[in-house]
Amino acid sequence: MPRDHAADILDPIAKEVVNNVGVWVDKEVVPVASEFEHADEFPEPLVNGMAEMGLFAIKIPEQYGGLDLSFECYAGVCIELARGWMSLAGVLNTHVLVAWAINAYGTEEQKENYLRRMVEPEIRAALSITEPDAGSDAQAIKTQARRDGDDYLISGQKMWVTNGQRAGVYLVLTKTEMDTTPPHKGISAFLVDAGTEGFTVGRKLEKLGYKGVETTELSFENARVPALNILGGSEGSGFQHVMSALEVGRINVASRGVGVAQAAFEDSIHYAQQRTAFGKPIAQHQAQQLRLAEMATKIRAARLLTFDAARKKDAGQRTDLDAGMAKLYATEVAQEVVLEAMRIHGGVGYSNELPLERYYRDAPVMVIAEGTSDIQKLVIARNLLREYQI
Ligand SMILES: Cc1cc2nc3c(=O)[nH]c(=O)nc-3n(C[C@H](O)[C@H](O)[C@H](O)COP(=O)(O)OP(=O)(O)OC[C@H]3O[C@@H](n4cnc5c(N)ncnc54)[C@H](O)[C@@H]3O)c2cc1C
Repeated sequence: MPRDHAADILDPIAKEVVNNVGVWVDKEVVPVASEFEHADEFPEPLVNGMAEMGLFAIKIPEQYGGLDLSFECYAGVCIELARGWMSLAGVLNTHVLVAWAINAYGTEEQKENYLRRMVEPEIRAALSITEPDAGSDAQAIKTQARRDGDDYLISGQKMWVTNGQRAGVYLVLTKTEMDTTPPHKGISAFLVDAGTEGFTVGRKLEKLGYKGVETTELSFENARVPALNILGGSEGSGFQHVMSALEVGRINVASRGVGVAQAAFEDSIHYAQQRTAFGKPIAQHQAQQLRLAEMATKIRAARLLTFDAARKKDAGQRTDLDAGMAKLYATEVAQEVVLEAMRIHGGVGYSNELPLERYYRDAPVMVIAEGTSDIQKLVIARNLLREYQI
């Protein structure tokens, strides 16, 4: 079956990995995704399959037992996973970005302690920035970490924590100093182990889509965490570390946008050739052809932007501009494409017997999480103004 495939433009190693994941998705994920999703059930067998393919170790260096593959490869893998079911790329996302942050900024002890266990994975990782009163404005967090001897005592409330119930380690953004100027200088990120006394995982939040993977609240009441668990070993760099890790997350979410849009497009172009109206397949009505052409063109542009951002990250460049553009464009395209796909399908697109209704419910979270589209535009504009300063 011809497909504008994620792997088409990748280097040979990435191409093989992405092709293999694509074959697995077609065989193992596509037939069961809607069933898991409608039941809002954690897809244990699928996540085990991802682990067997080594996907949780994709960005962990070989010296800690990982695969150490490129971001380009990672983007292709996430596109393929999301083409089958967006939530699977979400299960991977916080794990990969926390592993990346530990490797990029962690102390040698933190790398030894966590990265090896994140390979199999013996433990999975979650990222916790957002609070009831602080989302886009992450510097406004109130969760506080106060020094107490060789430890810190963390207190505060977090919410919208993806993988919150099943994680073994949480990268938690806290304030170690309340009144710094600018506020981010008082922010530190801690590696908090599941089961730490005073730390509890709260309720699972019910969602429109993005089901199967759990999103939870977290509560900290004087949770005692060793000072050795500050990412990088010293206070005050947490905001910068986490914002940098979010570039990895934005590549993941951009890829998810491409994958969901691709799935909706493929369903549409097949359906448009089978469904007849006014004596011919609807694909022969020019208005539908224009629609399909626009969908495919935007998806390709989104894919190219996403791989462009991934390659810049591979080159070790700062990629907040590129990852921001990719995330903004690919997720907005996903929203548009699933709606256009709904139009092409007519009434049957609204039925929960086809996966299209799932794509339709899954698309909105991608324009919100990992920074809303408004925030991506602000990041892009800030970079452009710096670049073009007169
Ligand atoms: C399903 C799901 C999973 C998530 N997973 C995680 C997770 O694992 N870890 C985590 O820490 N967080 C997670 N989040 C939280 C997510 O990152 C935030 O929801 C997101 O950053 C937006 O924050 P908010 O919801 O507080 O919205 P707000 O910040 O309140 O924004 C509301 C609106 O105001 C706009 N706005 C805000 N500031 C500006 C501005 N300066 N200029 C213009 N417009 C602005 C926004 O764009 C948006 O339209 C998740 C969210 C969801 C829905």
